[in-house]
Amino acid sequence: MEKDIELALEDIKNSLKTSCNNEAFWSDFIKPLKVLQIKDNRILLKTKNAFAKQILENEYCETLEKRLSSSLGSQVFVDFSVHDHTTKTESPSSFVTIKNTNINNNFVFDRFVVGGFNKLAYNAAQSLFGNSIWNPIFINGGVGLGKTHLLHAIGNKFLRSFPQKTIKYVTSDEFSRSVYGALSSNTIEELKNEYEQYDLLLFDDVQFLSNKEKINEIFFNIFNNNLSKNKIIVLASDKNPKDLIHFNERMRSRFASGLVIPITKPDLESLKIILEHKIKEIDNSFHFTKECIDYIVRRNNNDIRQLEGCLHQILFYASSFFPPNSVIGIENIKKIFSFPESGDKNLGFDFDPELVIKQVCDVYHTPPDVLKGKKRTKEISLVRQVCMYVLKEKFPKMSLVAIGGAFGGRDHSTVIESLEKIKSLMQKDKSFGDFIKNLINKI
Ligand code: ADP
Ligand code: MG
Repeated sequence: MEKDIELALEDIKNSLKTSCNNEAFWSDFIKPLKVLQIKDNRILLKTKNAFAKQILENEYCETLEKRLSSSLGSQVFVDFSVHDHTTKTESPSSFVTIKNTNINNNFVFDRFVVGGFNKLAYNAAQSLFGNSIWNPIFINGGVGLGKTHLLHAIGNKFLRSFPQKTIKYVTSDEFSRSVYGALSSNTIEELKNEYEQYDLLLFDDVQFLSNKEKINEIFFNIFNNNLSKNKIIVLASDKNPKDLIHFNERMRSRFASGLVIPITKPDLESLKIILEHKIKEIDNSFHFTKECIDYIVRRNNNDIRQLEGCLHQILFYASSFFPPNSVIGIENIKKIFSFPESGDKNLGFDFDPELVIKQVCDVYHTPPDVLKGKKRTKEISLVRQVCMYVLKEKFPKMSLVAIGGAFGGRDHSTVIESLEKIKSLMQKDKSFGDFIKNLINKI
């Protein structure tokens, strides 16, 4: 068996060489992978270093599991370790617990940064360990904002706090598949019994639960049964219960009857803290300047997964090109993202005029929409002209028509006038000139 797994891993590594499209990444992270331990259906792989471990866990775990499972002909799970010997947390006994629960022991509260945007969800999660238990809890938030992390963190804490209780993390996709399986093998009662014994059920990605009546019905039965027995259910979804339109009405209202808690779009301050936290966690040998943190966050402010992806990209190139203990500033980041190889994963650093406009507007405390309208007060016109100028500087290839288009379809002569106006103002007034240059540099 061990030999089979090793051979399968070698094959997969080779096939990834072409498909991952990044030779340096492949030789640094994928190629050094080795089988460390095999325990039941879990394979522990050794990674080159902690950074590689984190990247692989986040971005390649699923791929490796899928490919290994298909080449071995049975479902296997993959874990990563930096150490030659399995450490305490990776001991066989913790393997087994985690295996039966599907809980990922990387996603813990210690690594979950709490800010204004997720405070309510965090409090609701913690309430499960206090006196006032809300049940069910329905966490609702956009993609990459920490719902899955939070569910696993609850699971990990629950496992530690109540070792005798049974818990399960499942995605609606996995659940739907196991219901299909049970229906075809006539074991639906067993499946229901299994789910009805869990003291804590963490149900992720509710929005993907199959809309087949039968699956809905089985889920609904389990859901009601568990709640009536005071078993805890925490659900996560990127849709609010009322927008889960493919569910029937009673199910939606049942979801909504619990505590529905939003995770909103993170604010810049929280994102900065998260980024600093992640940098420390992954690689402590680089020092990022405050401006640099701000710069990265402003460009990756949609979700935390995107921010993490961007950081991985930066650290990967930083560790290849800059000596340890380097100070990483905006200039270094710009350099990293000018490498052609980083192009296909140019997270958040794409050509995005809207982002530029938004940042100029932030400086002037003006909502971007106003610039697209007809308003021509002196202040608004100035902001609009500055935006046009900054756009042209940032994206020299952007046509005048396209620039005008970004401001409610102004024609190209207006754009030329604006560019001239700002140029001459910058010449006449040195401090204005410095301000604009500085602004361009920061964006
Ligand atoms: P979702 O399930 O909402 O799509 P995830 O839970 O998968 O999002 O989070 C995406 C990534 O961002 C994960 O790697 C997770 O660890 C990280 N993350 C999300 N929220 C936080 C947080 N508050 N603190 C630290 N990391 C976070
Ligand atoms: Mg998720």
